[in-house]
Amino acid sequence: MFDNLKIMARQGKQSIPDLTSAKVPGIFRGRPLIAVGPIDETLLADLCPTGAISTHPLSLDMGKCTFCGECAFAFPDKIKFTADYKIATNERQRLVIKEGDDQPVSLSPDQIRHEIQQYLSGSLKLRQVSAGGDNSCELELNACGNVNFDMGRFGIEFVASPRHADGIVITGPITQNMAEPLQVCYDAIPDPKIIILAGTDAISGGIFAGSPALNRSFLEKYPIDLYVPGNPIHPLTFINGVLELIKKRV
Ligand code: SF4
Repeated sequence: MFDNLKIMARQGKQSIPDLTSAKVPGIFRGRPLIAVGPIDETLLADLCPTGAISTHPLSLDMGKCTFCGECAFAFPDKIKFTADYKIATNERQRLVIKEGDDQPVSLSPDQIRHEIQQYLSGSLKLRQVSAGGDNSCELELNACGNVNFDMGRFGIEFVASPRHADGIVITGPITQNMAEPLQVCYDAIPDPKIIILAGTDAISGGIFAGSPALNRSFLEKYPIDLYVPGNPIHPLTFINGVLELIKKRV
């Protein structure tokens, strides 16, 4: 026991004390900024591999963006990615950043179902379904529970069975062969059940959008409670988005 105490004294606290104000390294690409000014919008839009950039008016859809950075490399005076990781929201349209937008992304309080904050603010158990994911977002979701991010301190955890879950976190573009297992998992979760889309692939299909190998009809049947953009997502984006959704005091 004394050895353990000595180790704890030497190492100090490994968890990030405040996940709402933590800083991320400069290489991180978070909320984009599009500077106001003339540019060949078509040239800019054409270089985007996922059609995330729209023209007239110029905008960038974080729900489609792979955060590859190509647009910022090619037009550094026009597009910049900030280190702002608080980009999760419950309104799909809020993921679209327009030219000159410099406002933080947040949730729309009116869109949050009242039973979520009524029943789930003290404890939230989530079941994760990788619906054709490439294991990148899944790894970051795992990281949410590690010693650094320690999401469990808020009572938010992943569980092994949908029967024990309050909601579902979907990663991946939802392939044909995962459409039915996803539905089975969702049906097994008791009400009120929430749906979180984690990552660009889940939100829009990402680079696979429009592929006949996908079956995204599940998303047309139910309201989405939280969109977490990123490719892959950052644990701080996920945790801050969920905390805002359930209005957990930190
Ligand atoms: S960073 Fe996003 S918007 Fe820019 S080129 Fe890549 S996918 Fe397109």
